[in-house]
Amino acid sequence: MDKKDLRSLTLDKLMVELERFGEKPFRAKQIYSWLHQKHINSFDEMTNLSKELREKLKENYLLKNLKIVEKLVSKEDNTSKYLFETDDGIVIESVLMKYSYGNAVCISSQAGCRMGCTFCASTIDGLERNLLAGEMLAQIYEIQKDSCERVSNVVMMGSGEPLDNYDNAMDFLKIINSKEGLNLSHRHITLSTCGLVDKIYDLSKENLQITLAISLHAPNDEIRQNTMPIARKFDIDKLIKAAKDYANTTKRRVTFEYALINGVNDSIENANELAGRLKGIMCHINLIPVNDVKENNYVRSSEDNIKKFAEALTKKGIETTIRRKLGSDINAACGQLRKRYKDNLKEE
Ligand code: SAH
Repeated sequence: MDKKDLRSLTLDKLMVELERFGEKPFRAKQIYSWLHQKHINSFDEMTNLSKELREKLKENYLLKNLKIVEKLVSKEDNTSKYLFETDDGIVIESVLMKYSYGNAVCISSQAGCRMGCTFCASTIDGLERNLLAGEMLAQIYEIQKDSCERVSNVVMMGSGEPLDNYDNAMDFLKIINSKEGLNLSHRHITLSTCGLVDKIYDLSKENLQITLAISLHAPNDEIRQNTMPIARKFDIDKLIKAAKDYANTTKRRVTFEYALINGVNDSIENANELAGRLKGIMCHINLIPVNDVKENNYVRSSEDNIKKFAEALTKKGIETTIRRKLGSDINAACGQLRKRYKDNLKEE
């Protein structure tokens, strides 16, 4: 049987596991603290455990650590991009962004992605595998150690679709929020989805205080279906209804992400149609100038167009922000660095 990753276990699960070995619950708390507060990477560093218990842990569990294989620091701003290698040789990426209010880390939830959005680099080679909760956490822990900075915000907006890896994403959220772990408030965590409607309802039921971001990127089904295959499974009305339900249940404002692509979804008619659909929903729109990806021909909207689009939404009472571009000199957009790294390996 495959050994389980110890870092992926919630405290409750860890307690149950240790009970099987006849260990007391406080041992589980000690181990959990080594992993999630002291961020150690080997069993032998758990110095308050007996050698016997450490050996028992080694026999039964693994620590799926991440190794930094490349780090790029933007010259334009304080953004750093990390490429990590997993224990089975898969490469994933994360971004550290420094803001005036604190440090945010953008983590990957899967290696690759199977959602197929036409503008996104993460999906080009499909899904390699789901990441474990412990591998999502390790991205944050390793970045904290490397940068000597405390991470105060987390966005699940790197490679992958977090709701397509639902159970691991939920364990991640439990562990990061636990007071015996990083104790990071759910209010400082954003989960971004391309719109898996059934899973959004499941998430509502969890009633967490995280911010839900929905990648909408279109005002209607016709445009959405051209860029996002998931739109053929769940139509835009169903998606927006699910968003409304999420906001009503959790009392948390939903964010809609909208990447502006020149000539595809950025006309004033598009803005007006979008505003009409979102009327009455507790929400906010984040406009993103689309990042160029080598494999597609999309061009970002002009600054002027982005401003006009934002103004049209604001005029209709929709709260709108334009995302500041970070780290564009280091391929910081979703999946770009990982893709380049993998392509380079192939060429070697
Ligand atoms: N699967 C999730 C989270 C990962 S993508 C989701 O779809 O939301 C994070 C965000 O980056 C999404 O809004 C995604 O649509 C957007 N994105 C992907 N490629 C992009 C690009 N080339 N330019 C701008 N935004 C992009």
